[in-house]
Amino acid sequence: MKSFFLTGTDTDAGKTAATAALLKAFQTLGLDAVAIKPVQTGCLERNGRIEAPDTVFCRESGGQAEALKCFRIPCSPHLAARLEAEKLSVSDLADMCEKAALQHEIRLFEGAGGLYVPLNEQESVLDLMARLKYPVILVVANRLGCINHALLSLDALSYRGLEPAGIIFCRTTPPEENDPGTSPEAEELILNENVDFLTREAQRRGIPVLGNLPWYPDFSAKASCMEDAAARLAQAAALLSQYIPQSNTAPFRGTPQELLDFDRTHLWHPYTSAMKPLPVREAICADGTSIILRNGTRLVDGMSSWWCRVHGYGNQHLIRAIQQQAGKLSHVMFGGLTHAPAAGLAQRLIKILPGNLDHIFFADSGSVAVEVSMKMALQYHQSLGHPQKSVFAALRSAYHGDTIGAMSLCDPVTGMHSLFEAILPRRYFAESPSCPFHASYDPASFAPMETLLRKHADELAAVMVEPVVQGAGGMRFYHPDYLRDLRRLCDELNILLIADEIATGFGRTGRLFACEWADIVPDILCCGKALTGGMMTLSAVAASRKVAEGISSGDARHGGGVFMHGPTFMGNPLACAAACASIDELLASPWQERVAHIEKQLRRGLSPCRNMPGVADVRVLGAIGVVEMEQPVDVERWQAFFVSHGVWIRPFGKTVYLMPPFIIQDEPLMQLTNAICAAVNKASDNVL
Ligand SMILES: *Cc1c(COP(=O)(O)O)cnc(C)c1O
Repeated sequence: MKSFFLTGTDTDAGKTAATAALLKAFQTLGLDAVAIKPVQTGCLERNGRIEAPDTVFCRESGGQAEALKCFRIPCSPHLAARLEAEKLSVSDLADMCEKAALQHEIRLFEGAGGLYVPLNEQESVLDLMARLKYPVILVVANRLGCINHALLSLDALSYRGLEPAGIIFCRTTPPEENDPGTSPEAEELILNENVDFLTREAQRRGIPVLGNLPWYPDFSAKASCMEDAAARLAQAAALLSQYIPQSNTAPFRGTPQELLDFDRTHLWHPYTSAMKPLPVREAICADGTSIILRNGTRLVDGMSSWWCRVHGYGNQHLIRAIQQQAGKLSHVMFGGLTHAPAAGLAQRLIKILPGNLDHIFFADSGSVAVEVSMKMALQYHQSLGHPQKSVFAALRSAYHGDTIGAMSLCDPVTGMHSLFEAILPRRYFAESPSCPFHASYDPASFAPMETLLRKHADELAAVMVEPVVQGAGGMRFYHPDYLRDLRRLCDELNILLIADEIATGFGRTGRLFACEWADIVPDILCCGKALTGGMMTLSAVAASRKVAEGISSGDARHGGGVFMHGPTFMGNPLACAAACASIDELLASPWQERVAHIEKQLRRGLSPCRNMPGVADVRVLGAIGVVEMEQPVDVERWQAFFVSHGVWIRPFGKTVYLMPPFIIQDEPLMQLTNAICAAVNKASDNVL
């Protein structure tokens, strides 16, 4: 079955005539096609039945047609529905469309008016089309101004990631209704040039021109008109019946299977073997909290794509921010130049970051931010005349990234230090804080760190910690008072405190930044991941005035005084624009209530695991839910099980966890927790 969405550059563009003619052309080819009108306004009551005029028209010309929602008043659907005390929604309409007339070989969905015609106060026909993702046939009303309307429509389609299957020109006005000042010859010239110009443009964009319908006086009554129009669209029908969506493979040149084979042969995925990789699945798009796979499977995303997609997928504000910025200035070197997106982002960060962290350095990724923070700490002590303070301390079970400096501060066992020991710098580890987040604070839990710092104070430049939540090193939640003790001791010993908030920043733990749980201000703070809402890679390192001044006071004759780092893509305007939009979106949303609600749901949904055999611990903090198993899990098998349950969850080590987007609704969240319960249950029976 093939489905198309037919829309026009305007109302009265000739959509219905084109639809009826296409139906007839399909018929001639022996194909069973149907026209479906998702919303029809201007319906009439006849013999006690409500009849949709476009549908009646298609039927009278011999085609099959139906309307899904009918309203009497001939006006925009949002108003027509409101006048009958109804409310249209994209999700309901999309459900109806997906289920409609499935027995037919070809389904032609006909829109209402143009793309931005509203269905309700928030959603338009274009939103419905974006949800359905059917290839689009654009009917261009061939009249004065149509080049502009056609190009605007094509841009709007591409902006929403929709694929034009082709263009049909339709002459909609009789010659005598034209401007009296325009001679018939001049009018011919203008209308022909419309077609020629747009045909050239369509060719450039790789969009087929499917047909060109002339003006028919009284189209409906004359069977000969319909025959003529159908004949003119015969080739179009043949083309459409063979239509293979471009997005099937583009930009990859090959079939979906070839893509997977190519991937297996040539692409490295995170932490996998090049020779014996674990299987991967092709994602083709995502919206809301779902990732959609090539085979059509919709998976509820429990990972927020490694914790960054706090607003889920397809957020229009974020998409627009990047598109608008791309149109203005996608990148420019940050050496000697600046721009509003970078300054605007720093403005926002300084406002929401704890304390006086008011010097911002932009970097490319979380790991790079960690490297930058380490270099800052070194230069700080060097500038102040303590070059011997050049070693770092960190916690066991920590994760700070994969580049060499960052990796050196990850847990030495799970961070695979044995592989890279030869190049890792000297560093010290303290036991992971033993006092859990929800217990009352045990000051003895700080003793190992205190002993370590006092012993090595002379050589320590900084201590790096993930505040409150240790993420990829084991998903452990520790007591905020530990951070207070750490802050105090660092001050006493002149050791800088670096907070790695790459995972915890932007609300994940229930506070905007996890340092707020302890009410402390680090000397340097790194953030990344959710900074751009997961739209682009970007990280930021925020330093206190003390650190910035310290570095600046260095002796210029010995290379001091300036901070020595400057990546090519520093302050990339696209990423900064995305981050500004993401922070605005977050702060404008009820994120605290959302995270608190997710926390409650996670607690309830994961609690059955507590008593299952094989489970070591179940813990929840903010929008993070963790089931820790006694034994490491088989990632490949667990992942396959989760996919078969319609969810995307990727465990690591002994940890099975959820970090859903903040916009997740109760039902999909329950699907996530239920899937984990089912998997753990199966594992405890030794069948997973
Ligand atoms: C993910 C992460 C990093 C590394 O960030 P990348 O963008 O993957 O380089 C560093 N620290 C923490 C706490 C993280 O969660």
